[in-house]
Amino acid sequence: MSYDDSNVFARILRGELPCKKVAEDEHTLAFEDINPGRAVHVLVIPKGAYVDWLDFAAKASAEEQTAFTRMIAHVAEITGIAGTGFRVVSNIGENGHQEVPHLHMHVLGGEPVGRMLS
Ligand code: AMP
Repeated sequence: MSYDDSNVFARILRGELPCKKVAEDEHTLAFEDINPGRAVHVLVIPKGAYVDWLDFAAKASAEEQTAFTRMIAHVAEITGIAGTGFRVVSNIGENGHQEVPHLHMHVLGGEPVGRMLS
């Protein structure tokens, strides 16, 4: 799938839409999910144009991939969920029920998140 730069996260990155920023670095942005599923629900996205995890793994630089991985850990630390546990999940494609075609990791915690699949 080619990248569609009209998606909502691309618009946030361009400053066309607001977000509740949690953290940011050169390669990565973390912000609150607009419809939180748990007490803490943060989305971590690369600033580069990557559709999903497959696209990112294939094309992103080592520096971007390192920044992304570390930002997820940083978000867990600064939101206070690192010590109590949390879930990191990325939905990919149709069967994965991905709604926004820009790679994002959901970081969920602050309360029990329940079993992985119902
Ligand atoms: P997914 O189904 O994995 O693609 O998840 C997309 C997520 O983006 C959902 O959890 C939405 O609540 C969230 N979302 C959609 N629009 C916005 C927005 N403008 N700001 C923050 N989160 C959003």
